[in-house]
Amino acid sequence: RMPAEDKSRVPDTMGFLNLLCIFNIGHQNSVFVLYEKWSVKMNKMIYLDHAATTRMLPEVLEAMTPYQKEYYGNPSTIYEFGEKSREAIENARAVIASTIHAREEEIFFTSGGTESDNWALKEAANLYRRNHPGIHGHILTSPIEHHAIIHTCQELTAMGCGVTYLPVDETGLVIVGKAEECIRENTCILSVMYANNEIGTIEPVEELAFLAKKNDLIFHTDAVQAYGHLPIDVRRSGIDMLSASAHKFGGPKGVGFLYIRKEIDLPSFIQGGAQESNRRAGTENVPGIVGMGKAAELSHRRMGEENRRVKKMRDRLVYRIMREIPDVKFMGNMKKRLSNNANFCFNGIVGESAAILLDTQGICVSSGSACSTGQPEVSHVMKAIGVPEGLAQGALRFTLGAENTMEEIDYTVEKLKYIVEDMRKAAV
Ligand code: PLP
Repeated sequence: RMPAEDKSRVPDTMGFLNLLCIFNIGHQNSVFVLYEKWSVKMNKMIYLDHAATTRMLPEVLEAMTPYQKEYYGNPSTIYEFGEKSREAIENARAVIASTIHAREEEIFFTSGGTESDNWALKEAANLYRRNHPGIHGHILTSPIEHHAIIHTCQELTAMGCGVTYLPVDETGLVIVGKAEECIRENTCILSVMYANNEIGTIEPVEELAFLAKKNDLIFHTDAVQAYGHLPIDVRRSGIDMLSASAHKFGGPKGVGFLYIRKEIDLPSFIQGGAQESNRRAGTENVPGIVGMGKAAELSHRRMGEENRRVKKMRDRLVYRIMREIPDVKFMGNMKKRLSNNANFCFNGIVGESAAILLDTQGICVSSGSACSTGQPEVSHVMKAIGVPEGLAQGALRFTLGAENTMEEIDYTVEKLKYIVEDMRKAAV
C-alpha cells in the first residue's frame, strides 16, 4: 500500500483515482492482495509501447487528408478523378519499393501485417499443393513468431500441412546450424521474423534466406517490427516475401504490404476484383496507402538519427533498471536487438498488474502475460526461450519512440522501482 505522506509517490492531483487492483501473486498458492492506489495526476502520458503501435506522423496525416476529403475517386475508374487516386497509389508503391530495393510490381497493398502473413503462408501452402497434387506442404518457422504466423500455422496444420518450429537459443535467435536438418522433402516455405515484437531480437535473416535458396524453399520474413526501423535490402538479403504494417512506423492503422519477389507465382489470397494486378482484390484503401508511403519515406530518411536517439534512452532505461531494481533479468539479445526495445522479467511480480499500476501513473507499457483466466498466462515467446514460468509472469516490455525524452525514462524508472518493491512486499 502506498503511504499517502510519501510525496515522491503522490504526483499533483488533478482528479482522484482510487483504484483497486487485484494482484495474483505467488506461484503455487495464489495469494490475492488488494492494493489501493493513490491519487494521481493524469495530465501527461508517457508512451512506451511503440511496438504495439505508433502515433501517426503529422506529415502523414497531412498527406492523407486530401484523399479523405477531396480526391475520393475509386482508383479503378477510367475518368480523371479516379486517376488521381490511382496515381497516388502508384507513387506510394514506388517509394515503398525503393526503401527495400524491390521492383514496384513486387509490392502488394494489404490491410496490415496480419493479412500479409496469412497470405504468405496460406498461399505458399496452396501453391505447393497445386504443383504437387495430393501432397500437403511442410512449413518451417520459429516458435517466437507473432500470432499472425503461429495461428496461421495452426490452421494450416488442421488442414493437413506439416509445421516444424526451429530451435531458438535463450536470446530468441534461431539456431541456423540446426535448421537444415528440419527441412523435409515437402518443405515449401521457411518463414522467420526479421525482429521479434516482444524481446526485440533481430534474427539472422540473410543466413536463413541463403539456406532457403540452397534448398529451393521460399523465404518469407515478417518484418512488421523491423520495416521503417532497420535498413532492409530484399535483393541483397535474398528475401522472397516480406510483410510490413504502416502503424508500426508512423503510418495509419489497417494498411500494410506484402513484398512478393517477381519470380514467385503466389496465388491471390482474397478473390474479387482485379485490383493489385489481380493478386489482392478489393477497392484500395487510398488514404491509408498514401499515408503509408509518406511514413515509409520519412522513417527511412530519419532512421539513422532516430535509432541513435532512441538507443541512448533505451540504454539508460536498461542501465538504471538493472542497477536499481534487484532480481531482474534482461531478456533478448543485447547486440542483435531493435534499438527501441527493452524487455525485463521481474522476479516475484505479475507483469500485467505492474503494467496496470504504471498506467495509473500515466505510463503505457506492455506485459508479457495475460491474466484473462485469473492465472497469469505467460507468452509463447518466453516459453520458447526457456524462461521459467514464475519469472516469465513478471515480464514487462518497454518500446521507445522518437518522441520520448530522458526525463520520461527517469520518471518511469522511479515509478517502477516503487511499484516492484511494493508488489514484492505484498507478495510476502
Ligand atoms: N507481426 C508482428 C511481428 C507484429 O508485431 C504484429 C503486430 O503487433 C503483426 C504481425 C500484426 O500486424 P497488424 O497489426 O498490422 O495486423
